[in-house]
Amino acid sequence: MSDTVLAKAVAMARAAAEEEAPWGTVGDHAGVDYDDERVATHFFACLDPAYVGWRWSVTVARAPRAKAATVDEVVLLPGPEALVAPAWVPWSERVRPGDLAVGTIWPTPADDARLTAGFTGLDDLDGAADRSPVHPSQWGIGMGRARVLSAHGRDDAADRWWSGERGPEAPMARSVSLTCSTCGFLMPIGGPLGQAFGVCAHDMSPADGCVVSMAFGCGAHSEIALAEKDPVGAPTQDFVGFDSLDLDQADVILADVSVDAAAEAVDAAAEAVDAAAEAVDAAAEAVDASESVDAAAEAVDASESVDQD
Ligand code: SF4
Repeated sequence: MSDTVLAKAVAMARAAAEEEAPWGTVGDHAGVDYDDERVATHFFACLDPAYVGWRWSVTVARAPRAKAATVDEVVLLPGPEALVAPAWVPWSERVRPGDLAVGTIWPTPADDARLTAGFTGLDDLDGAADRSPVHPSQWGIGMGRARVLSAHGRDDAADRWWSGERGPEAPMARSVSLTCSTCGFLMPIGGPLGQAFGVCAHDMSPADGCVVSMAFGCGAHSEIALAEKDPVGAPTQDFVGFDSLDLDQADVILADVSVDAAAEAVDAAAEAVDAAAEAVDAAAEAVDASESVDAAAEAVDASESVDQD
């Protein structure tokens, strides 16, 4: 879609930028973009230190069969490197859960799918079945509330609670083996969510006063102490044997013990003497054997001498 006439209109575009911009803030030519047929934008670096990365943008155009371009507009636009504020987000999308403070108003739309009509009297039932999307299967008793939670709103809440900080995948739940479903501090809630959720009523639990899933759990579980201790067994009696001692006979017994000990010591000494005697015999035999070897060697020497003669 390039256009030779528009591409060559750099000088004209610079002159237009310098006319609009503060003096000395129009820098080098930074390229040209073709916006449409016979419409292009020339960019010039902005030298203003307050607008680093911004560009003076001069849009030029040419009429059909015209040989000259004209200037459409001159604006200061952020370039790819410019420091700019985040994209604007509507207030209704900017407020996140937990942002509501004292005095904050958060209106609920009339057509919020999470709510449905709450029936407060028999008069409300007239023609209710004909009203879409209200259907008998979605009726809820309002008890003074014009709207009650719809099936969609209920499922939405259940999904959020189940996958949230008090669901089965929460780090706290994964750190313990017992779940809220077996905890004595769980307060059941009624309604369709009562089988999956309850309210924790343990003051030391991080979930005190909050909805917890039955598969959640924490270290304050009512049965955790019993579950993690060894069960207490039946009482046991020490049957280790013992000897009775008649103190009147103590001296005699002690004397017997001394005699026995002395006899054992004598036996041990006799065995030691026997062992020593056996060692002496073995040494003597070794000496005899050595002398026999010497005699044999001498005999061999004598024999060799005779042969030589
Ligand atoms: S004390 Fe812990 S285990 Fe018991 S209900 Fe509360 S969060 Fe669940």
